[in-house]
Amino acid sequence: MGPIQAPSSSSHEHSCQYCGTGLPIMHQFSDMVVHGSCHCDAATADRNHQEQERRKLEEQRRQHKEERRYRDRLTRSGIPARYRTGTLADFDSAHNKAAHVAAVGYVTDFAKHRRDGKGLFLIGEVGRGKTRLATIIALEVLRQGFSVRYSSTVDLLERIKGEFGTSNAGNTLRGYLDADLVVLDDIGKDHRTEWSESTIFQIINDRYEQTRPLIITSNLGIDDLRRHYQWSGDAIVSRVFESCQGLLLTGPDWRLQR
Ligand SMILES: [Zn+2]
Repeated sequence: MGPIQAPSSSSHEHSCQYCGTGLPIMHQFSDMVVHGSCHCDAATADRNHQEQERRKLEEQRRQHKEERRYRDRLTRSGIPARYRTGTLADFDSAHNKAAHVAAVGYVTDFAKHRRDGKGLFLIGEVGRGKTRLATIIALEVLRQGFSVRYSSTVDLLERIKGEFGTSNAGNTLRGYLDADLVVLDDIGKDHRTEWSESTIFQIINDRYEQTRPLIITSNLGIDDLRRHYQWSGDAIVSRVFESCQGLLLTGPDWRLQR
């Protein structure tokens, strides 16, 4: 639809700016006249160009919005700055081909795993890239629009404890129950107390019961993990076994190679 023009407009506004042809009248409401557009090549090209520009702008706006949302989710995720970049393609899989392939599969099917509550258990000695792989998976999941909470187990317990008696009490824990994906890094490294053990059990158990996926990493073997958590070790290990696929990370300690 063309511009609405008052009858007092000069006559050149009623003709095509390219070919000079008079524009057809589309509608007339009392003394208001709506002119149509010209179909000559130049006018058509101009219209197509404007339409393209409009779409480009719309796409840019959409991308900016998406980028902003991703940044917000990234900030809330708790992933440390040094682990905030990277994709699975960047992960050095030379020594961990099977784990890499499994991680790619996990990320590709995350929407399904989110529904089924299926997670991963990354096992391996210190420096084998467990945190790197876990955070890369978390980033890939964030990019898909899901919410993530990441923390080392020790830091998480400190944060929850730090909220005691404040207006934030329970906020962190709630975030860990609600997120689409939770990554608990270095489980079993915490100094065990009755409170810390029951807090970790609560997170693992709630995720399990609500069929929400959990990724945990540990350099403890299953038996050591079971022993570390004295009263809930069996329950923790059985929930992890039932809901997580185990990935073993091997190879040399990358921290010592630099
Ligand atoms: Zn024209």
